[in-house]
Amino acid sequence: MKVTISDSEMIVMRAIWTLEQATVDQIACQIAAANQWSVATIKTLLGRLVKKEILTTTKSGRKFIYTPTLSECQVVGMLGQELLSKVCAQKHGDVLVTLLASAKLTAADLQKISVAIASKLPACHVACDCLESAAVCQCDEPQQALSRQLLEAI
Ligand SMILES: [Zn+2]
Repeated sequence: MKVTISDSEMIVMRAIWTLEQATVDQIACQIAAANQWSVATIKTLLGRLVKKEILTTTKSGRKFIYTPTLSECQVVGMLGQELLSKVCAQKHGDVLVTLLASAKLTAADLQKISVAIASKLPACHVACDCLESAAVCQCDEPQQALSRQLLEAI
């Protein structure tokens, strides 16, 4: 399932995941002021999320109740996949190192990551997927040229 969620839509989703299900007023109460959004803006964002089938609505009296169709964990997983799909396959390790360095992590988080690394089988080779004709990612070339120069200098 391919779903794209904008930054603004993500703010709305985070509020709804926290509330589990909510009306426009309940959501507006939580996020309108901090984001300087009108209720109309939030209604527009909710409409988009319903169209994308990330939210469903049920009518309760005169109000609509919005309920997520995807859990926060499912969406976090999809965002991670989406991020990796945007960069060269040979750069996935660099992306993960950058994320690890910039994330605030508890001891429990680090334990979970250690277990995931220990159970991960290494690939023999990761092919560059930048261009069909390129065997090696162009980003590596200046570095490789530099290593060659260094080796020749020794
Ligand atoms: Zn590449």
